[in-house]
Amino acid sequence: MTTLLALIFSAASTIVIAVLGHQFHLAHFHLVGGIPVGSMAIGGGAALGAALAIRLTNNYDTDDFRMLAYVAGFLAYSLVIVADYTALQFRVGDRVLPATEIMNVARYLMFLVEEGAKSTAAVLPKWVRIPPQIMFWLGMVRLSVEIVGTLVATGWALSLVIGVPFCWRNRRFYELKSLVESANTSAVREWELAVHQRRPIEARAILARVRAGKPQSQDRVWTRIVIHQCPGCLAGRVRIEKCKRGPGFIRAESQDEFLLDQARGSAILAT
Ligand SMILES: [Zn+2]
Repeated sequence: MTTLLALIFSAASTIVIAVLGHQFHLAHFHLVGGIPVGSMAIGGGAALGAALAIRLTNNYDTDDFRMLAYVAGFLAYSLVIVADYTALQFRVGDRVLPATEIMNVARYLMFLVEEGAKSTAAVLPKWVRIPPQIMFWLGMVRLSVEIVGTLVATGWALSLVIGVPFCWRNRRFYELKSLVESANTSAVREWELAVHQRRPIEARAILARVRAGKPQSQDRVWTRIVIHQCPGCLAGRVRIEKCKRGPGFIRAESQDEFLLDQARGSAILAT
């Protein structure tokens, strides 16, 4: 259900952002202080579809959804490039090119790379002279900065919208460490108790039992443990939710949520 919604929403946000990106010339030539602001706006915007679908269906940022968001971000960026290319007349820097001149994809791509190199060279101090042989590579580096920026912004937007905690010390979002669904409610309760009573070794042993109790198709109610962890300092956030199967959808309601500091996070969430 979430997957379908995420696909539809992602397609919508990708197209909307591609149109806006083309309108406002967001691809390339918006490098402010080394940060590709334009392409990051494209990536962040394209991720909103998947993020919204995840939020609406009480789901989480699993690898599949993250991959979907990245694909949306990259696709949106590429679409803006293609839209710029197919527009009858377009502007790069201060040059306006007629359609006849840009009906050559290879030339257009070279042109993007060259213009990127030129605008990068323009912000360097005057005494820095860049040999013409290196200009091409400078342009390529810039293009990769744009694409990496698009993907980074995609990940950030997704994490931000669905409320993944942010670690200020390591300046990065927590990652989804595990998402366990279990029909073994008593084991989940035992696990929670062990965590609260600071018995990490037992908690880890109980978690294996929790994992073993996978909900079957006839189960109407089960429990979900969602653990996000900072890959740097290993602090974590744990959410425990009660899931109920409705007609055609799954409803999740929050039962408990708690934070684990660095020491407890590394002890309890180690694998
Ligand atoms: Zn951290």
